[in-house]
Amino acid sequence: MTQDTAPLAQPLTLLAEDELIFRDSVRAFAEAQVRPLVRQMDEQAKIPATLIRQLFDLGVMGIEIPESYGGSGGTFFHSVLAVEELSRVDPSIGVLVDVQNTLVINAFSRWGNEDVRQRYLTRLASGTVGAYALSEAGSGSDAFALTTRAKADGDGFILNGRKLWITNGNEADIFLVFATIDPEAGYRGITAFVVERGMAGFAVGKKEDKLGIRASSTCELILEDCRVPGSNVLGEIGKGYKTAIETLNEGRIGIGAQMIGLAKGALEATIRYTKERKQFGKAIAEFQAVQHQIARAAVEVEAATLTVYNAARLRDAGRPFLTEAAICKILSSEVAERVSSLAVNLFGGNGFVKEYPVEKFFRDAKIGQIYEGTSNLQLQTIAKQIMG
Ligand SMILES: Cc1cc2nc3c(=O)[nH]c(=O)nc-3n(C[C@H](O)[C@H](O)[C@H](O)COP(=O)(O)OP(=O)(O)OC[C@H]3O[C@@H](n4cnc5c(N)ncnc54)[C@H](O)[C@@H]3O)c2cc1C
Repeated sequence: MTQDTAPLAQPLTLLAEDELIFRDSVRAFAEAQVRPLVRQMDEQAKIPATLIRQLFDLGVMGIEIPESYGGSGGTFFHSVLAVEELSRVDPSIGVLVDVQNTLVINAFSRWGNEDVRQRYLTRLASGTVGAYALSEAGSGSDAFALTTRAKADGDGFILNGRKLWITNGNEADIFLVFATIDPEAGYRGITAFVVERGMAGFAVGKKEDKLGIRASSTCELILEDCRVPGSNVLGEIGKGYKTAIETLNEGRIGIGAQMIGLAKGALEATIRYTKERKQFGKAIAEFQAVQHQIARAAVEVEAATLTVYNAARLRDAGRPFLTEAAICKILSSEVAERVSSLAVNLFGGNGFVKEYPVEKFFRDAKIGQIYEGTSNLQLQTIAKQIMG
């Protein structure tokens, strides 16, 4: 783990002025624009296009894109704050923003040449949603066992295969698709391609019907003789594995942010409810057993927050953060599950029905332990780093 010095060490949860202003603006937006739609979006399994437009207008769909490409010119930590604040109200909106920033834009910024950045970062900043397509039916944790094939064809490539579980599949127009140019070469054949909705041979397939984050679309992608120009290769041919590994290492911190936001949303709702609900002649918040349960949840949320903020600040400081990112994802997703489960318990029967917000948090929490590397895979990373 990183044991390095910094010129001016600051408490992790102290925000710089610009971070505070940004956090407060996202918080106000989430309360005013997202909260009234949460139940409807969950039931309809859909995010309204108008809300997505508002997210662009707010500046949270191109946070780290430099202003010269039309973005907000922010930091990775700003992305973490945005994902946390949105997830506090609705983790489906959190993941939409997370994938756009920490995976898609991150990959384009880091691995795209000037032509690719000009063509795509400008669009991603101004109104186009992106998606990140690595997983397939046969390759999840073992991501580099992917079989989507890219065959050279003149100055371009012909792609064939299917991608599964692709977040933002319904809303996106730009898809970062990982395919192999040579299955014999193993991970060294993997290459990242930019595929656009509307390209011949490309279609978005079935949308999954999910337990949680139901408003976030999760779709299959179908590539049948889809021709992609050579200028749409992102990064080097055969180096897509590096793009995938490195963006996912960062993306994981975004999932940590989603999970601490979720846990905070559930905890706040629980504190409010226990002060209102009366049994045995007093508010249930007055029972010491309940107070201790809530205090323990707050302990866990604080600990998870520190790991997320630390990983994000290490990333912004250009320091190694691999172990810290894995730690923050596993801890925050487990805390989100425990805190939202407690929230259901403390709401009693009301915790079990859709009229109240906590059953949704409980359903939404589960995904944190699955995507962007399951908890077992995070443990594997941590063990490898600390045990050699
Ligand atoms: C809602 C949702 C959104 C998603 N969004 C995206 C997206 O935008 N883009 C994308 O590319 N993918 C996406 N995914 C895919 C996601 O990343 C994978 O589901 C995840 O990596 C797990 O892969 P799997 O489902 O194939 O499970 P498997 O890999 O089959 O794992 C099943 C179980 O086996 C365990 N396991 C597997 N290998 C090992 C091992 N070596 N040691 C110990 N345990 C092991 C796992 O921990 C897990 O518990 C999404 C998935 C979901 C459900």
